[in-house]
Amino acid sequence: MRQKTAFIPTLRTVAEAEMLSHQLLLRAGYIRQLAAGVYNFLPLGQRVLQKVTEIVREEMNRIGAQELLLPALNPAELWQETGRFENYGPELVKLQDRHGRDFILGPTHEETITDLVRGEINTYKKLPLTLYQIQTKFRDERRPRSGLLRGREFLMKDSYSFHADRESLDQTYEDHYQAYVRIFTRLGLNFRAVEADAGAIGGKGTHEFMALADSGEDTIAICEACDYAANIEMAEVVAEVTEKQEDVPKFEKVPTPGHGTIEEVSTFLSLPKEQFIKNLLFEIDGEPVLVLVRGDHEVNEVKVKNLFEADRCELASEETVRRVSGAPAGFVGPVGLQQKVKIIADFAVQGMNDTVVGANEVDAHLLHVQPGRDFEVDQYADIRLIQEGDVCPRCGGVIRFERGIEVGHVFKLGTRYSQAMKAHFLDAQGKEQPFVMGCYGIGVSRLVAAIAEQHSDESGLIWPSQVAPFAVHLIAVNMKNNDQARVAEELYEKLRHEGIEVLFDDRLERAGVKFKDADLIGIPVRIIVGSKAKEGTVEIKLRRTGESSQIPAEDVLKELPSWLAKADR
Ligand code: ATP
Ligand code: MG
Repeated sequence: MRQKTAFIPTLRTVAEAEMLSHQLLLRAGYIRQLAAGVYNFLPLGQRVLQKVTEIVREEMNRIGAQELLLPALNPAELWQETGRFENYGPELVKLQDRHGRDFILGPTHEETITDLVRGEINTYKKLPLTLYQIQTKFRDERRPRSGLLRGREFLMKDSYSFHADRESLDQTYEDHYQAYVRIFTRLGLNFRAVEADAGAIGGKGTHEFMALADSGEDTIAICEACDYAANIEMAEVVAEVTEKQEDVPKFEKVPTPGHGTIEEVSTFLSLPKEQFIKNLLFEIDGEPVLVLVRGDHEVNEVKVKNLFEADRCELASEETVRRVSGAPAGFVGPVGLQQKVKIIADFAVQGMNDTVVGANEVDAHLLHVQPGRDFEVDQYADIRLIQEGDVCPRCGGVIRFERGIEVGHVFKLGTRYSQAMKAHFLDAQGKEQPFVMGCYGIGVSRLVAAIAEQHSDESGLIWPSQVAPFAVHLIAVNMKNNDQARVAEELYEKLRHEGIEVLFDDRLERAGVKFKDADLIGIPVRIIVGSKAKEGTVEIKLRRTGESSQIPAEDVLKELPSWLAKADR
């Protein structure tokens, strides 16, 4: 492609973008924002998107998944069958047709595919079946501010598998897991597969694939010693074993005027935070529950929610707190509540001695409170967030945190959708059974940004060769110079003839502008035709390392493969 006529509007600065990938994709002319979370892919962006898409497609086909295309526009009735029309939340884009019938724009396609398959497949003989699509999704995200990382319209690869039994699902899940490992490796990503929470989509057994990036939204817990990695929402915590003391004095009330947080009270009373119990009142499916963790720990709401198998789990309102405790939040405790509520506590609380808790009275706390003696706990469970320095639940090593961008997700859905939608088949005994299902997503457009996030420097993008919009950037330093123009034009023809994707900077711009743009655009191998063109010499240079060499123009085709091969290193 000739740059003179190419639509590559580069910018020196952009104001609105926070993430590096977002800034660079805008500046280098890959994307433009149309509305918050809605982007135009310009020719360069489209080329990268196509390459990412193709790698995803190849690896899905390799595991026997069959590509189809479902509509984005879906009738509300399907989503009403599973209850998600009401429960999916404000991200769901709803609209009406001219007759006032409700529709949605699909944020994901479990309902649509289940509807299709229930109408066509009715025997175990046709199972297992894996179908996938690469299609535009719509989610009215609350904060679409990270460019392609969180769009309101974005491209996703979503596959769905249908099985007669769990073993078959396990096999296809494993196939997807391995396909994802191949995809993200081919894309040049530094990533980890982590154990994750199944969230609103439901089902047990799920992994997220995280591209590691300091700017990522997700925090993952990684063991320094073994390969354990989990989303912090999910990471199991190993409780320390401590001895119970028998000689704890009777509890007493002390004034703590105006000090409600553990931080404040611990300073005020000169007692370590570990001696406090943090008391949080939750409303779990509408019922108040007191949740206790050690003062220096944090409650993990996902674990609490899962413990109760609840649909909703949130901190109780100030009003509820006052009704249950008799005091405002900050002074709540398990001893002497106004209203009897269920009390659950983290395993670490079980081993605590001589603790400090809120007195259920404003400006007061209780000292010397002994769990088990002074109050009863209905259930002890692992309900706290893992912290850096905690013990690895697998090997006893040390846990460290890293940040990441979720680029893929594999779920075992089980029969959640097939039961709700009465999607059945006849098994070998002629008995009607709901399909056992799996679903597997990849954020294809998000990947473009995740790759850019990992592969860039201050000057611009540095695409891995597998996804680069072009393999070679041919730059004629001065197009007004006849020798340079001639050598560059000849090379352009030769490269194209060989089927090499080449972007040819044939613009009448200054050298400085051309080099700055080339750095920004980030094509892995550069061929520079400059003042030595007269002697038939050109420069070949790698964007990533800056390594370069002067070579005869006629050797370019011969030399190129070795340069392309080392461009990613
Ligand atoms: P997140 O936690 O980041 O919101 P999710 O858990 O809602 O993601 P899934 O429902 O698992 O996402 O969707 C499958 C994949 O689609 C994700 O792994 C992610 O890569 C991508 N994805 C999800 N939401 C967006 C979005 N708003 N913009 C771009 N890609 C997205
Ligand atoms: Mg997810």
